Amino acid sequence: MEQQKQDDAGGKEECLLCRVTYSIFSTFPPMPSAMALNIETDEFFPLDTLRSYSTGYEMADAQGYAWACNCRERASNRFDEQFTLRDATGKQLARIRYRLRIGSRVVAKGVTDSVGRTQRISTGDAKRLSIDVATS
Ligand SMILES: [Zn+2]
Repeated sequence: MEQQKQDDAGGKEECLLCRVTYSIFSTFPPMPSAMALNIETDEFFPLDTLRSYSTGYEMADAQGYAWACNCRERASNRFDEQFTLRDATGKQLARIRYRLRIGSRVVAKGVTDSVGRTQRISTGDAKRLSIDVATS
């Protein structure tokens, strides 16, 4: 019996990273002189190049963090992490706004749940993630 590999072209679901990346860069106004940075190679390239891509994955790839992508069809052995945010006294920070960054780039943002947990985020290297919390 032979099993044929099927390429599933339909029903692809983009991961949060790709969706957020796309939502950020697809709405940028044209900025011919602006540059974007590939954080893997430290090379700059025209920001308008990003806007020409049709998917968040391509945008993330151009900026060097496509390894954090967790699209269903691209999923592999990624680091899957969920953080619980606490204040200095150890109290869980429920329903506060947070941002997850890789370098200076925001890859996810949202509001913690009732026990201070962020959404799950998949990265290739969790050490590169930073978290900003809106405290007020
Ligand atoms: Zn993705």
